[in-house]
Amino acid sequence: MFSSALPERMDSSVIQVPVRSGSSFQVDSPPGSALVTPELAEELERILEQFAREVSGRRGHKIGVFFRPGIFGHHKVGRAADIYAVDGIGIDIWKRRWDEAQHRAALAAGGEEKRRVLNDERSRNLGWRIYKALQIYGRWSQPYRYPVQLFGPWTRSEGPWKCISDFLLDAHRDHIHVAK
Ligand SMILES: [Zn+2]
Repeated sequence: MFSSALPERMDSSVIQVPVRSGSSFQVDSPPGSALVTPELAEELERILEQFAREVSGRRGHKIGVFFRPGIFGHHKVGRAADIYAVDGIGIDIWKRRWDEAQHRAALAAGGEEKRRVLNDERSRNLGWRIYKALQIYGRWSQPYRYPVQLFGPWTRSEGPWKCISDFLLDAHRDHIHVAK
């Protein structure tokens, strides 16, 4: 009898489940922060586990992933999730560290030093690495006449949709959005 007052994400006709921790990564956020379709939960769990295995070796602990609930578009039906932090550090901070490394590389004296700075950052920056893992291992929705639904602060430089608008890029300054 209260169904009309329920937000759409609570619609009982759409099955939504939390993303569960794996053996190499753990979900740091409350379960309600990423309530998604079973299909999306499975895809995220698979990719996050693979990502965490690749990066956790030297770190010796589970890699934390923090979600926050979204409101618009695919989020309404549990087909999207937003990642805000990795290993306890915000995506916006990871991006700032990334930009600072690019700046240092641009100022580097020689090609070898430049490559060293860039390679160090690529191995260390878990924000960039989770974005790349989602891009390489993920199969994301691409609605007709829309770009692949993977957006974050690295989209313009890394793709898949390099011509992302300023507006959309600005909306994903502090998180990574995926939809399936
Ligand atoms: Zn989103």
